[in-house]
Amino acid sequence: MNILHCDLDAFYAAVEQRDNPHLQGQPVIIGGRPESRGVVATCSYEARKYGVHSAMPASQAYRLCPHGTFLPPDIKKYHSVSRQVFEIFTDYTPTIEPLSIDEAFLDISGCHKLFGSSQEVGILIRKRIKNEIGLNISIGIADNKFLAKLATNLCKPDGILLFDANMIQNTLPKLPVSSLWSVGSKTAWRLNRAGIYTAGDLANISPEKLQRIVGSNASFLIALAQGHDQRPVCPRSDAKSMGNEITFPIDLSDPAEIDQVILELSSQVGFRLRQSELKACTVHLKLRTPDFTTVTRSRTLGNAIDADLVIYNIASDLYRQSGLTGKPLRLTGINCSNLIPCDLEQPALFEKSSDRLDNIIDELKNSFAGAKISRASLMEK
Ligand SMILES: [Mg+2]
Repeated sequence: MNILHCDLDAFYAAVEQRDNPHLQGQPVIIGGRPESRGVVATCSYEARKYGVHSAMPASQAYRLCPHGTFLPPDIKKYHSVSRQVFEIFTDYTPTIEPLSIDEAFLDISGCHKLFGSSQEVGILIRKRIKNEIGLNISIGIADNKFLAKLATNLCKPDGILLFDANMIQNTLPKLPVSSLWSVGSKTAWRLNRAGIYTAGDLANISPEKLQRIVGSNASFLIALAQGHDQRPVCPRSDAKSMGNEITFPIDLSDPAEIDQVILELSSQVGFRLRQSELKACTVHLKLRTPDFTTVTRSRTLGNAIDADLVIYNIASDLYRQSGLTGKPLRLTGINCSNLIPCDLEQPALFEKSSDRLDNIIDELKNSFAGAKISRASLMEK
């Protein structure tokens, strides 16, 4: 029982309730404005009673709960609170796999001598996050990641639950197939149509039969339904920054040409960020003049980014403000730092059409290794 799944309760809304005492006990909905086309990022448990949930259109949330307090997300604040929470985790183990801004797996195999049983560690972490940060966190404890996350879902909010052998035998088989990892509503529907409703139904099915329904995922699902999950807790790589630069064969001074280079570099760095599933909060532009003077300019943002055009817009802006526009340059570089795992962002809120274009370009780059694929404005170079 060495795996902990830790998940803050209604995170964004809980932070706002903590910071604005008059919101405590009230329905609080964080996300798009009710009159906008935005969606709900998180809502307090008081709002959930009215049927409001995350990813729901804000306009629908408003119809369900017109007296709720609607607030835009303060991502910068949430990131700093999240960092405090993760710092507490690191007091217990270095093996932390962040799943999102408010959720992580911890492998605490090495810390029992210092802190006691897994349950004692869980209680300690919950107490510290409550006392030092003022938030509730739910913790599931089990032998593997799947069961630990399942335990958290069962004990939320403000709970702690150990998913032990007894629960594997008696609780797991009764749970609906939708509680299994990777079973979304579509897969659940297909399983139900084949007469498979619970984890218990799944645990006893032949892999061949299940394969016809869910494809290659079959043996993984059967293992989960039996309470097995071999996946280790994987800490993210701690790359500090990611950058690309170009030294020109002959010095360049035309601002339009430099801008093209900045766009090309932005797509290279953006691609690497997305491949590593990282986003950056800071963009640096590096310019070197023919006499080897290096000038760097940087900008730190309130939210994390990985889209080519967003990186480009910032870097291009930094170039225009560098005082070197129109001057000859021998090198230009873009570096992104302050990296965080990309799923710490709320995708539904921030996905822009440019992100989707980046995804398509990335897919093409990956399927045609070595092929030259770029935005039309880069083609003429
Ligand atoms: Mg949460």
